[in-house]
Amino acid sequence: MRIVRRSSVLATIVLALVVGGAVAMVGLQVRPWWGLLGIVPTTIILGVGLWQPFRRWRLARTALPADARAWLRTHVPLYPRLDADARDRFERDVQFILDEYSFEGVQGVVVTDVLRLSVAAGAAVLLHGRPDWELPGSRSVLFYPHRFNDEYYDSADAAYDGMAHQQGPIILTAPSVKDSWADSGDADNVVLHELAHLFDFDNEGADGVPSLVAPASAGNWQSLVRREMKRVRRGRSILRPYAAEAPSEFFAVAVETFFEQPHRMARRHEELFTALVAFFHLDPRTGHRTATPQSDAPTVETDQVTGPDADTDVSR
Ligand SMILES: [Zn+2]
Repeated sequence: MRIVRRSSVLATIVLALVVGGAVAMVGLQVRPWWGLLGIVPTTIILGVGLWQPFRRWRLARTALPADARAWLRTHVPLYPRLDADARDRFERDVQFILDEYSFEGVQGVVVTDVLRLSVAAGAAVLLHGRPDWELPGSRSVLFYPHRFNDEYYDSADAAYDGMAHQQGPIILTAPSVKDSWADSGDADNVVLHELAHLFDFDNEGADGVPSLVAPASAGNWQSLVRREMKRVRRGRSILRPYAAEAPSEFFAVAVETFFEQPHRMARRHEELFTALVAFFHLDPRTGHRTATPQSDAPTVETDQVTGPDADTDVSR
């Protein structure tokens, strides 16, 4: 995550000058001093457009609290593998998420620092290899007390630990979030799972082809997913059976395994591992960023995650 995205700052300045200039020109037609009115929209547009970079700039100068750093060291395997510079950037991303996302407890759930940190850490893990990326979609996270069903009720058929909406909040149950990082080598992490779904929202809906995969590589990616899903169905995969539910679930489960059991995945699913290294620009075994995607792996088409276009929900 960048403190300042040059293109958006430039667009803000241009818009402020154009709108302010237009208002000033109209004002001048009425009375000479009315031209000063152009300052008002210019100031408002600059204030709104530069607010987030300013907040990020201030946060970047503030250290993450020591207890949060200690929690990351203990619970997030990627964090201790990073060198000092990369760790600083990871902590900065965590702070940006904590500051910019809203976290709300439902039905009496108390939103603790650990719950918030658990989600922020997941986002920082997914974005670490791609500093130009932002998480797409809503910036609202709801914590439920128990598993829920399609209608968000706790009932006998409640089976969901989390749900990602293309145009709505990310819902996570508090117990599953706590479990996510409690055993960070079990390839079962609802935070990584639901946040991974966010990458999969595009015009085609959640289809297991992340929206950042270049169109030219989408076919390769889909055939890789089909082959790997067959392995899951035949019991010859390290991915848990839920990965065979749908291509979108395959991607989310694969991301969990990629970050929590990278050595095992690299041994047992070399092609899939290589594709995910290329996608995330990161080797989770070492914490090293990989700048150049493998030639036979799916590549990405852009350095920026864009917002969702269609309405699709994906649950876990
Ligand atoms: Zn899912």
